[in-house]
Amino acid sequence: MVRVRIHIEGIVQGVGFRPFVYGLAGELAVAGFVRNTAAGVLIEAEATAETVTEFTAALRSRAPTLARIDELRCEPVPATGVDGFQIELTSPDGPRRTLISADTATCADCLAELADPADRRYRYPFINCTNCGPRFTIVTGVPYDRAATTMAGFAMCQDCRREYDDPGDRRFHAQPVCCPVCGPTLRLIGPDGTASTGDPIGTTADLLRAGSIVAVKGLGGYHLAVDARSEEAVATLRGRKHREDKPFAVMMPDLGVARSWCEVGQVAAELLTGHRRPIVVLPRRRDVVLPAALAPGNDQLGVLLPYTPLHHLLAQAVGSPLVLTSGNVSDEPIAYLDDEAVTRLSGIADGFLLHDRPIRMRTDDSVVRVVRGRPRPVRRSRGYAPEPITLPLDCPRPVLAVGAELKNTFCLARGRQAFVSHHIGDLENYETMRSFQDGIEHFGMLFDIAPEVVAHDLHPEYLSTKYAVDLTGVDVIGVQHHHAHIASCLVDNAAVGPVIGVAYDGTGFGSDGTLWGGEILLADLTGFRRLAHLEPVPLPGGSAAIRAPWRMAAAYLQVAYGEELPTGLEVALRHADRWAPVQAMAARGVNAPLTSSAGRLFDAVSALTGVRDEVSFEGQAAIELEQRVDRAEAGSYPMGVRDGLLLGRDLIRAVVHDLRRGAGVPTIAARFHRGFAAATVQAAAAAARGHGLDTVALSGGVFQNVVLLNLVIDGLERAGLRVLTHAQVPCNDGGISLGQVAVAARTQPGLQAGTGLPSIVELA
Ligand code: ZN
Ligand code: ZN
Ligand code: FE
Repeated sequence: MVRVRIHIEGIVQGVGFRPFVYGLAGELAVAGFVRNTAAGVLIEAEATAETVTEFTAALRSRAPTLARIDELRCEPVPATGVDGFQIELTSPDGPRRTLISADTATCADCLAELADPADRRYRYPFINCTNCGPRFTIVTGVPYDRAATTMAGFAMCQDCRREYDDPGDRRFHAQPVCCPVCGPTLRLIGPDGTASTGDPIGTTADLLRAGSIVAVKGLGGYHLAVDARSEEAVATLRGRKHREDKPFAVMMPDLGVARSWCEVGQVAAELLTGHRRPIVVLPRRRDVVLPAALAPGNDQLGVLLPYTPLHHLLAQAVGSPLVLTSGNVSDEPIAYLDDEAVTRLSGIADGFLLHDRPIRMRTDDSVVRVVRGRPRPVRRSRGYAPEPITLPLDCPRPVLAVGAELKNTFCLARGRQAFVSHHIGDLENYETMRSFQDGIEHFGMLFDIAPEVVAHDLHPEYLSTKYAVDLTGVDVIGVQHHHAHIASCLVDNAAVGPVIGVAYDGTGFGSDGTLWGGEILLADLTGFRRLAHLEPVPLPGGSAAIRAPWRMAAAYLQVAYGEELPTGLEVALRHADRWAPVQAMAARGVNAPLTSSAGRLFDAVSALTGVRDEVSFEGQAAIELEQRVDRAEAGSYPMGVRDGLLLGRDLIRAVVHDLRRGAGVPTIAARFHRGFAAATVQAAAAAARGHGLDTVALSGGVFQNVVLLNLVIDGLERAGLRVLTHAQVPCNDGGISLGQVAVAARTQPGLQAGTGLPSIVELA
């Protein structure tokens, strides 16, 4: 007989790991024990050498769905000859290194019980077990047990307690375990607060079928639900929410219905039915007519499947697709506290489906797209956060990175673990700022990280920057926005560089104080050098130009033609009276800061071609232009690359030329995308050759444009280059905090000289 001590680290607590080990030990007749520790799980296993090997292999190969084993170490210890296998219930001490799992969609076993009239949890909307249910959104403290969750106020009944205490039960130590006798309850109230009698789910379904808007309390906050098949109901929701064009997500009752509305590929189907259940952005079927108000001007649709028992029951009761959108007005964060939700949403919702399990952490749905067969996060939040991302280098001192302004996330890191937060939102109002600060404190407490180094964007006006520079007793490091984008892409790929980084986005503060956004960098995690960029153009009216793409069109025409503005642009001159003063502004540089933004170039072309000249959400003009692209078009506009400048004016001239000869928008959109991609490939490939590098990293929100992304990847690969793209965090500003952490880990004060990685400074 031999005995080994097995140390396991990763997500191994709160996911049914000990009952799994217990069951496995019984099956293989292994003696010993398993217990939770501060670092994860400790097992001692005693059996024949052969059995111990089999047992150890099965720990990995048969681990519960939600478990994630980051490390498994074995050491031999003397055999004891003691029989039997125990789960030892000792409370861990020492520094906490265990992880908290993300909220997880209802598992198949719980769904079967939910549908079984003989089960005591038949149709109970809060059924869960160690394999599924709320986690991150209900955790209030550490260590993770029931007292440190928002279930603390619900005393377990005897039946639930028996399951909770039984190592052989699926609910052994499932902290949110509950049932109709002891757990949370649902109720439906009207906007005036009066409770409705009868079955809340049945009545809610009736309301929804009649076209009403109902606020539904979910895992991480309130949603607004409405019948997705009703043009009128969806349009009413848009009007009341003050949401003009931004697409709504739709919750389908099942995968079959999803397929009847959208094209669902294999990877998308796995995402939709998996345990994380993000919103998956899918192409709409061309043979199905859907209400236009769902996603105006968009040939894609965000789709999700039910992920809580309440959603399952509601979807079954309604039997058809439901819009499920964040419960908020306009740009405010999603409502998550009951009183607040009823107050804030009272002008929108006709009813409120509430329950009494509090939400500790406000968490939006995640959004994912599938590009080139891989899931690409657009928003990484519920179902993903707070799982750590592994850093490709050690972070010697604990770091907080505060992210950017729009689509903010923050990130706390220690050792090789980076805890990227859930989606916080746009840091533009008090409510979001409060959520940001609360989130930072909460993460610090949960993961036992007291930051000594704080990384921030260089933009002095970002609220996140102001928060960081006001902190005392920490080392503060400013990280340039596009460097952070490329660093984020490196970490996403477990790489450290150096690489050629292409960072294309809306805008970010440059090292020279101008607004960057069309950048080709030589970069590693330590530093970067700006090798090439889009030729800067005026941003007339500053941020006003971001909401009004026609201003960018006016500015670009001015740059391309000067005084000799072309005639015959009927579409473009839709607002002719407004153009002249803006062009004068651009020419004189008054209230017109220079920008090399790639996003603004797309805006200009979208406005010039009459696709979109004013926007109601970020990226709208570019998204609509991308969707007009004629995929069969093989032509391409020439774009000069000279002295490190990519000449956007060349593309504008070519667009104008084609417009005047009456070319169609799909043709122009295609030639523009192809021309910009070709120049990007040319510049990046030249930069790679010039520096003896073989890898290019692509990041920044503009790469959410799939047409551009595909053209650039294909072009770079044809040039023999390896291309890094995002798969764990978004390429947009939601990924900035991870990049900031990596740069801070590499450049923080106190690093020993000569340790670590070669820097690009030494490359030159
Ligand atoms: Zn379950
Ligand atoms: Zn119970
Ligand atoms: Fe950005």
